[in-house]
Amino acid sequence: MSDKRPPSRPTDIDRHARHILLREIGGPGQARLGKARVVIIGAGGLGNPAALYLAAAGIGTLRLVDPDAVSLDNLQRQVLFRTRDIDRPKVDAARDALHALDPAVEVETVADLANAGNLPTLLEGADLVLDGCDDFATRFAVNDAAIAARIPLVSGAVGRWDGQISTFAPHLGAHAPCYRCLVPDTPPDAESCAVTGIVGAITGIVGTLMALEAVKLITKAGEPLIGRVQIVDGLSGNLRTVKLARDPACKACGGG
Ligand SMILES: [Zn+2]
Repeated sequence: MSDKRPPSRPTDIDRHARHILLREIGGPGQARLGKARVVIIGAGGLGNPAALYLAAAGIGTLRLVDPDAVSLDNLQRQVLFRTRDIDRPKVDAARDALHALDPAVEVETVADLANAGNLPTLLEGADLVLDGCDDFATRFAVNDAAIAARIPLVSGAVGRWDGQISTFAPHLGAHAPCYRCLVPDTPPDAESCAVTGIVGAITGIVGTLMALEAVKLITKAGEPLIGRVQIVDGLSGNLRTVKLARDPACKACGGG
């Protein structure tokens, strides 16, 4: 894995025409997307739709990090994968699917578990990181590494019929909390979706919101979800946003 930033991809006017028409993106915003390097932790239910929409959006480089292989019960929600991909490393199957969409997207694959040891290297040169992993130890490690790298962390989480998303960027100032201001420690009732079940479409919604947030951050369009948590309740159909303050006693961002 090289830390040398590849040349930005040329803007494909026809392919990205609907972006270029948007006042908030336009040609300059599309060029920023083409230069952007985004790290996606977890190529599962959230990482799949996020990577798909970011590749389609013309992101220059996507770095996918996931240690697992595709299994049959992934296919209910992990939309990059096909039945023929079962037993292949997820990052390889994802790269092939993204290249079928757009061969110009640079896809870097890391078939490894993100942890405190390798995250500084994984985030090297990145403009932002998306976390769609499914365990708290990894989430805390990604949060620490994003704080150290001073890049925004777009974090999504899902369970059963619900999901939530926020952007953490404490390097931007006192108004901007980190993930650990929201979740100080592993919740005692933490359960994986392998135990609780998960509706496939909710991972699609939250993963796609993560891609939307990344596009906004890179093009500086609109208001990012900094200091706010967006909550999707799939059963009721409600979507709401709650404020999140920085925790002065936070063990990760320290309130400074
Ligand atoms: Zn914090």
